[in-house]
Amino acid sequence: MSEPMREQTRETVYFRMESRSHNEQFARVVVAVFASRLDPTVEELNDIKTAVSEAVTNAIIHGYEEKDGWVEMEVSVDTTARELTVTVSDAGRGIEDIEKAREPFFTTKGENERSGMGFSFMEAFMDTLEVESEAGRGTRIRMSKKIGQPEC
Ligand code: ATP
Ligand code: MG
Repeated sequence: MSEPMREQTRETVYFRMESRSHNEQFARVVVAVFASRLDPTVEELNDIKTAVSEAVTNAIIHGYEEKDGWVEMEVSVDTTARELTVTVSDAGRGIEDIEKAREPFFTTKGENERSGMGFSFMEAFMDTLEVESEAGRGTRIRMSKKIGQPEC
């Protein structure tokens, strides 16, 4: 007996990678390839890649302070809502004050080292950004973007 046709509107990929800086490029490319199912514009794709790059870099350099650890990612596309959702999780140091960390120009590294703009870019380039974190336990960033929205 054949299965009834089921309309699948959400597709998900899940992967985890070692916290090495060159994996930031891997994550960016995987998300871009997956997001292409929604047929984004070059600009939308660049926005997504920048946001992913910022989140993964944060997990590696702040979460794990460049030591060994796993960065986990879940990427899903909803082909009906035309929405991409990306989750980046680490089990690293965690963030003490999330509100402060999200402010533009706030960084816990030296001002000469980092600019403190990562969260601001994620917020600007995606439609939603949720940050969950617990000091000593890790951080989870969830961000989503609708593809094909008119410019506002
Ligand atoms: P930039 O992204 O411009 O290079 P930055 O990384 O310091 O600088 P944000 O990305 O905005 O700036 O992050 C702000 C601060 O939040 C960081 O300095 C760090 O203290 C904290 N933070 C961000 N992500 C994490 C994380 N995954 N784990 C622990 N701390 C984090
Ligand atoms: Mg950053």
